[in-house]
Amino acid sequence: MLSSDPQNLLSKVRIVLSNPSHPGNIGAAARAMKTMGLSRLYLIHPKKFPDPEATARAAGADDVLRQATLCATLDDALSGVVFAVALSARHRNLGPERLQAREAAPLILEKAGDGTGDVALVFGNETAGLSNDEVQRCQRTVFIPANPDYSSLNLGAAVQLLCYELRLAAYGGRPPEVTKTVPFSSPPASGDDIERFYAHLERVMVRTGFLDPSQPKRLMPKIRRLYGRAGLERDEINILRGMLDAVEKRVS
Ligand code: SAH
Repeated sequence: MLSSDPQNLLSKVRIVLSNPSHPGNIGAAARAMKTMGLSRLYLIHPKKFPDPEATARAAGADDVLRQATLCATLDDALSGVVFAVALSARHRNLGPERLQAREAAPLILEKAGDGTGDVALVFGNETAGLSNDEVQRCQRTVFIPANPDYSSLNLGAAVQLLCYELRLAAYGGRPPEVTKTVPFSSPPASGDDIERFYAHLERVMVRTGFLDPSQPKRLMPKIRRLYGRAGLERDEINILRGMLDAVEKRVS
């Protein structure tokens, strides 16, 4: 894990969308960011913003949209930024050094951890991508190593992948997990419950003819050992007794 606090590192990352045409993609980007713990969205000349389509696609991440910074130029969006990368699937002559997204993520966070300013990931327009001038303004080109015959991702999807790589890198490959689990187990059964179950089981075994009370052998101690190993829970006792009830009904 990088030395700085992961959340603090992620809070230094700006996601810059240059000239986005579709408000839906802006919403999708906001959602992608928030799911990965990022929050700072910069929009250069969005065609339509704010827009209900953006809010709808953001789902619960409309706070990211509300706090988005609107900029007139890329220079505005990069003011106070110490390290910027241009996201582009295309190979450009004389462009900055190219890195795959996975190798770029730790480098971007390292620059964020320097403490001298923010870092930025710059994404292009849905149809035109980034201009050469915009790419030149950045220190690296970063690409998602997609299918070479069809390498252009949807803008929101590209933002999602980069934010995911940053999150993984910030947490040294193992981000904290969602801890809100639905409890599956029930409380342990009480000793009384278990004794009533054994009595019920014995009664049913006798009534079905499986257990001969005049020749019990070591059946009940063996049954006790078996269920003792299981560490029965209250719900499980209820299931077992329900089954015994059903058997009893049939034999009566
Ligand atoms: N037709 C455009 C692609 C636009 S996709 C072009 O040829 O450039 C919108 C934006 O998503 C791109 O500008 C880029 O920032 C990002 N993107 C999409 N696919 C990508 C990939 N494989 N690698 C890096 N960025 C990508």
